[in-house]
Amino acid sequence: MHRNLFKIAFSFIITTFFITSIIAQEVHEPKIDSDWVKPYPPFRIAGNLYYVGTYDLGCYLITTKKGNILINTGTAVSATLIKNSIEQLGFNFKDIKILLVMHAHFDHAGGVADIKEQTGAKVIADAADADVLEAGGKTDYEMGKYGVSFKPVKPDRLLYDGDIVKLGNMQITMLHHPGHTKGSCSYLFTVKDSSRVYRVLIANMPSIITDKKFADVTVYPTIRQDYAYTLNAMKNIQFDIWLAAHASQFNLQQKHPSGSAYNPSAFIDQKGYDEELNELQKKYDDKLKKDAEQ
Ligand SMILES: [Zn+2]
Repeated sequence: MHRNLFKIAFSFIITTFFITSIIAQEVHEPKIDSDWVKPYPPFRIAGNLYYVGTYDLGCYLITTKKGNILINTGTAVSATLIKNSIEQLGFNFKDIKILLVMHAHFDHAGGVADIKEQTGAKVIADAADADVLEAGGKTDYEMGKYGVSFKPVKPDRLLYDGDIVKLGNMQITMLHHPGHTKGSCSYLFTVKDSSRVYRVLIANMPSIITDKKFADVTVYPTIRQDYAYTLNAMKNIQFDIWLAAHASQFNLQQKHPSGSAYNPSAFIDQKGYDEELNELQKKYDDKLKKDAEQ
């Protein structure tokens, strides 16, 4: 009798151990840039659009009467910084109804699972990044080498190029901009204040992160064509305000030194956008040349 009880208890402990180790897939975040987790004072960019990111990781809050939309979360630790920033602006963290992801890397999607859990927000992402989000980065063609680099999360809705996300009076168009990841995307929408209307582009700039030849990236066979498509598509977008997933890409600190007053026109910068895009086009062209020589 005692022996049987002991056996049952023992197998129970072993089973529990295995189940918990499967559930709690360990997250190994790659090396974090100190600028990614440095706080930056939150501020109003234009109309109902606010900056709630860190010094370098662009996270954006769009407020509506039906609740709020958060675009990007930064790394796992910056989720707390975002919550503080949202509250500092006088908004309720739990009013986040929609969580949009620009691409499934740990420095932008690291807090998605936690914020979804804490707020009940619906996670919406580009369909082509869904499997990487669900795998916590493990299936990414490049970042997969780090294993699970962020807490896995299953999107509630998947978007395809040109799809629209609606909440309250907001309509956000998703632009599929693959290359950096299979499902990288940008968001385009309109906000207004008492003086004018602004068309806002939050762009996923197509930077190249792999050192491999494109032809050797076998798990992402269309990577070369995808970058070419995105570089071309991004040249034809009409917008007033330009923002991006990394603050350094659009020079946030120069445009809005911390503590400065409301000034949406500081972010009207077609020239800066064109220069950045030309730079990325050059890097892509150079990579193709290098690939051909190898
Ligand atoms: Zn990335």
